[in-house]
Amino acid sequence: MSTFSDYKKEIMTAAHDERISLALSRAIKSYRANTANALKKFPHTIKMAEEVQEIKSSAIAQMRKLAEEASAAIEENHGKAYIANTNAEALSIIEKLVGTNKLIVKGKSMTCDEIGLREHLEHVGNEVYETDLGEFIVQKLESKPLHILSPAIHVPKEDVARLFSRLTGEELPPDITQLVATARKLLREKFFAADIGISGANVVAAETGTLFMIENEGNVRLSTSAPSVHIALIGMEKLVPTLSDAYKVSEVTWRYANYGVPSYVSLVSGPSKTGDIEKVTTYGAHGPKEMHVVFLDGGRSELEKHPILRQALFCLRCGGCLYECPVFAVTAGHFGDKYFAANGAVWAGMIDKDKEKAAAIAYTCLTCGRCKVRCPMKIDAPEMMVALRRLIADGE
Ligand code: SF4
Ligand code: SF4
Repeated sequence: MSTFSDYKKEIMTAAHDERISLALSRAIKSYRANTANALKKFPHTIKMAEEVQEIKSSAIAQMRKLAEEASAAIEENHGKAYIANTNAEALSIIEKLVGTNKLIVKGKSMTCDEIGLREHLEHVGNEVYETDLGEFIVQKLESKPLHILSPAIHVPKEDVARLFSRLTGEELPPDITQLVATARKLLREKFFAADIGISGANVVAAETGTLFMIENEGNVRLSTSAPSVHIALIGMEKLVPTLSDAYKVSEVTWRYANYGVPSYVSLVSGPSKTGDIEKVTTYGAHGPKEMHVVFLDGGRSELEKHPILRQALFCLRCGGCLYECPVFAVTAGHFGDKYFAANGAVWAGMIDKDKEKAAAIAYTCLTCGRCKVRCPMKIDAPEMMVALRRLIADGE
């Protein structure tokens, strides 16, 4: 998307794509029902979300300090930690760690997408497999993720069947159970053959350097435990002071992401170790021998300084707002760029410094505020869009 007219064309094409509205209407119905059930069953989540708003607001004001504290804790746990000020620095750190000719399995991570990590590692001669089913489909289709939690939300089962038939050389029917089993078969050996596993994290407890990773498929658990090296790339806005804070953020995240409870929550604080022989601590038992964590600033410290737009950093990436947004309902991730809807506009303007792109997204927003009602962090999208439009108009 280089100009406003390209964006307009893209979004209008998406708005007339019946497959997007069909896929979204099904997803919206199911998201609303599942979230209502989860909040009814666990009503304390609503109060906990208010507590998490306080935790995030205060944590974001001290992101750098928390990144330093978490780095010290990770080093104490025999991991290695790095703070990257820019996307280029993060890419360079990870490229040096990875080298070339490596087989890499990767969990879904918006921060990795943000800096183009997969494409970069492929460019320098590595083979990278997305292991989240939706990301795997999007990667193999050479498409782009159109939702933060369900990247292949726009791809119907018939298209997945065609894709997997091409990958396996077998004629596969559009049967979802069979397609999931095929993905399992295609990726299974990669987890154990991989040299390196890459992940993000939903939240990090600075006091212990513990990464919390929430998922349902089990691919993150495998990617971060089967290969001998684990590398995590994490935006600094994911840091909170304590384990207890991190647990609260996690519970609110998965509940508003429409799960009563997810299948897996992995807590990782350092490389695998054992002291079972003569009490001598030895690293690299069954899990990774090395763990490297890169905390990315990438413009977050600057964004934090804006009294209104800093709200974008509170986002838990639960995806709830997108199911309430009337524009997203007919355009999916075409309403945005790396991130979607109002947060996507803030990201484009304040992090990517692409005013034209930011303006296009900000003026597509209807400022209706439906997303704010759903958002566990009460992020005020209309307020942010008005502030962002003003910044852009003032040429700041
Ligand atoms: S305020 Fe904007 S981003 Fe939020 S629901 Fe309305 S159109 Fe969507
Ligand atoms: S803006 Fe709010 S509702 Fe939307 S993904 Fe972020 S935390 Fe969830």
